[in-house]
Parts: sequence; structure tokens; C-alpha cells
Amino acid sequence: MNIHEYQAKALLRSYGVPVSKGHVVTRAEEAKTIAGELDGPLWVVKAQIHAGGRGKGRFIESEAGEKGGVRLARSVGEAAEEARKMLGRTLVTHQTGPVGKQVGRVYFEDGSEIARELYLALLVDRQSSRIAVVCSTEGGMDIEEVAAKTPERILSFTIDPVTGYQPWHGRRVAFSLGLEGKQIKQCSTLLGQLYKLFLDKDCEMIEINPLIVSDEGDLKCLDAKMGFDSNALYRHDDILALRDETEEDPKELAASKHDLNYIALDGEIGCMVNGAGLAMATMDIIKLYGAEPANFLDVGGGATREKVTEAFKIITSDPNVKGILVNIFGGIMRCDVIAEGVVEAVREVGLKVPLVVRLEGTNVEKGKDILNTSGLDVIAADDLSDAAEKIVKAVKG
Ligand code: GDP
Ligand code: MN
Repeated sequence: MNIHEYQAKALLRSYGVPVSKGHVVTRAEEAKTIAGELDGPLWVVKAQIHAGGRGKGRFIESEAGEKGGVRLARSVGEAAEEARKMLGRTLVTHQTGPVGKQVGRVYFEDGSEIARELYLALLVDRQSSRIAVVCSTEGGMDIEEVAAKTPERILSFTIDPVTGYQPWHGRRVAFSLGLEGKQIKQCSTLLGQLYKLFLDKDCEMIEINPLIVSDEGDLKCLDAKMGFDSNALYRHDDILALRDETEEDPKELAASKHDLNYIALDGEIGCMVNGAGLAMATMDIIKLYGAEPANFLDVGGGATREKVTEAFKIITSDPNVKGILVNIFGGIMRCDVIAEGVVEAVREVGLKVPLVVRLEGTNVEKGKDILNTSGLDVIAADDLSDAAEKIVKAVKG
């Protein structure tokens, strides 16, 4: 789960990390009052969306020369005006895709004078099962671009969980960033705070881009992106409370409420499968036969009929779906439960696209009976490749 920049900064502040003072606004009428809570002389006005690249982003239907999602203002009035211009509009950045994201919140921040822009991130390194530190002198830029063009400007290392964070980790970062004097101590304190926050809150990622050296020579976090391990959210009510459901794919949101492992993709074939491995194989074979999956969906082992019904409804609610492939190997999952769920869902929401069903395993005959006597227009398939071939043919003609 991701959170907004202003929320991430509040968390950072609570761990002692240096960030600017700021206030968030959601309603245009309140923009002036809230901007007025900062003293100036420089205000930064920042669109809050769960995507990076806002500064270089563009609003849909923006006037020629209009600035992106991060703007500087020199007075309360100007700051409020910029916020009013952003609220409710759709911002497109290289991370949002062409559809963009609607701006529901704008953050006012005390503007900083910047001497240097640096990059610092913590993330989970799956290979070593440790927390990795990534830093670079090329702050303010897309780190993927730096990695592709000038990888020698990135330092990355992992922290041994046995020793935990040690001040020399921070000094290593400081020297590689070319910091000097008081900045070295600041850097080592900062990294220690970030590491503690990362562990305490079960983060997946903390990205500070840019980390700046101010004109007074102090380190400060000017931007913050934070992601959390969703499997650990049950023990972090404070983090869960920061969830902004308007930022999430409505289909994925509905799926998470029903405890379904669903990920929306942009293909045309909706998939309902049990088991993550079989789901991956199903996506692969759809591609092999020349089409693209519209989603990943693992209904899980002990899914109930209600859960299957919800899953099927989520798939059919996707306008990109031109055909559905149900691929079940009933081990713990019973084929009759799947069949009942499919029939129930179709009764509720109808079926406007071809449906191929491949059932195998526990109670397979019972499952096939339920489908055959339901009056549904189901194309039966015998195995994985037969199923993929049939659904691709049905969709592509
Ligand atoms: P992003 O584009 O979504 O990554 O948003 P950022 O918060 O990183 O802001 C983009 C850029 O705006 C930064 O790289 C800075 O160059 C600039 N910026 C952000 N805050 C300030 C500020 O307080 N003062 C100045 N002068 N520039 C800022
Ligand atoms: Mn940034």
C-alpha cells in the first residue's frame, strides 16, 4: 500500500527526520486560509497523487505553458490560486499512464532554497532478504534513468539485520554523496531514523528524491514516497488509516475487500484461476496463443461460492474484458463450488462475452453438471492449452 507525500512526511517528522513545514488542503474554498498558515516568503504547491514525476507532469486540458504538479508561489494569494487550479483536475506523469490521476489533495509547503539535489532510498532486496540502501548524487532525476545512463553514480549496499543499522552505514552514504562537515553527522542520523521507520512500520520502500542540501548547508527531505507491505498492515492500524481508496484501482479495491489475490492488467482475457502458479501458467499460455490477460486472479484454495461470485463480478466489470477463461484444478478447491459461483454471478450481472471453462479435479463431474444444466453458454475445455486456444479463438474470431 502506498501513501501520499504529505502523509509520508508526517511520519518522517515523527521519527525526527528533517522535512519542511506544510499543510494539506482538499477544498478550494479553504486554500487561502491554509496557505496562510505558512509564513513564506516561498510556498511550494504540490499535487498529492500516488505517482512520481509530478513536477514534470502535465494536467489534462492544460493551457500552453501551464506548469505541472509542483509549483512555486511568492504569496499566500498566489499559492492559493495555484492550489485551486490543481484541485479536481487530472495530472498525467510518466508514472500514471495516459489516463492520469485526479488530484483531490494539494500540499502547501515552506519553500526551500536548494544547493544540491541528491537521491536516497531504502527498499527490500529480495535476493539477500535484507534492507538495501540506494543513494546517488543525481537527485531530482528519475533513478531508473540514472541507472540506465550513469550507473556508476549510484551506490547500493545492504544492511545486515544481525548488526542492524550502524553509523558507518550513514558515513558510507555521506562520503559517496560528497557531503562534508556537519552534513556527515546529519546523514548518519537521518539514515538511522529511516532504517528504524522502515522496520517499525514494515515498509517496502522509502524513497527520498530529492534529498537536498539547503543553502544553509543542511540536509532535508524535499520529497517522500513510501510503500508498505500489505501483508503486514493488520498490525499497523495507524498506517492503514492513511489509505486513500480513490488512488486504487476500483477492481483491485473490491478484490482486496473480499480477500482475493487480484491484479488488474491491460489485456482482453479475464482469468479466474485457483493457485498462483496455475494463474501464472494461465497468463503465459494466453500470451502463447496470441492474446493478453486482463488480470491475474487467484481465488485461493478454500474459496466459498460467495467469493467466487465476487471474483467473477470483478472480472466482468472490466470493460476491456472480451472473454473469460475459468481454469480450475480442484485440489482443496472443489469444482462444484466454482461452478455454483460462476452461475450465481452470471445470474446477477449477466454474461456478454464468451466464457471458456476448464475444470479438473475434486468434484469435477458435479461441477460440469451444474454448468451444463444452468443454461449458460459455456465453452467447455479439456486441458490448459485447449482452454487457451478456445478463448483466444472466441475473442479474436
Ligand atoms: P516529483 O516531481 O513528483 O518527484 O516531486 P518533487 O517533490 O520531487 O518536486 C519536483 C522538483 O520540484 C524537485 O526536484 C525540486 O527541483 C522542485 N522543488 C520541490 N520543492 C522545492 C522547494 O521547496 N524549493 C525549490 N526551490 N524547489 C523545489
Ligand atoms: Mn521527487
